[in-house]
Amino acid sequence: MIIYYGTKKKLKHVKQLGRMRCTNCGHEVDASLTKEGGYFHIFFIPVFPVFGYKMIFCPNCGIMKKLTSEEFKEMKESNP
Ligand SMILES: [Zn+2]
Repeated sequence: MIIYYGTKKKLKHVKQLGRMRCTNCGHEVDASLTKEGGYFHIFFIPVFPVFGYKMIFCPNCGIMKKLTSEEFKEMKESNP
């Protein structure tokens, strides 16, 4: 019997931040406040989380800035 297992990433866009200049790639992009989580799966069914990041997401290069939990919460609750 073959057992399919591994890890998979998942992005969840929490809030749109509007136009920003990316500090990583330098492009003007529509940035968003994003959570990235990875989980271990067996037969493509998530079993347990293995990592998680909170960040400002750049659609051009992927990641603009990693955030701490406090920074993420502050940005999530602030009004643009
Ligand atoms: Zn970028």
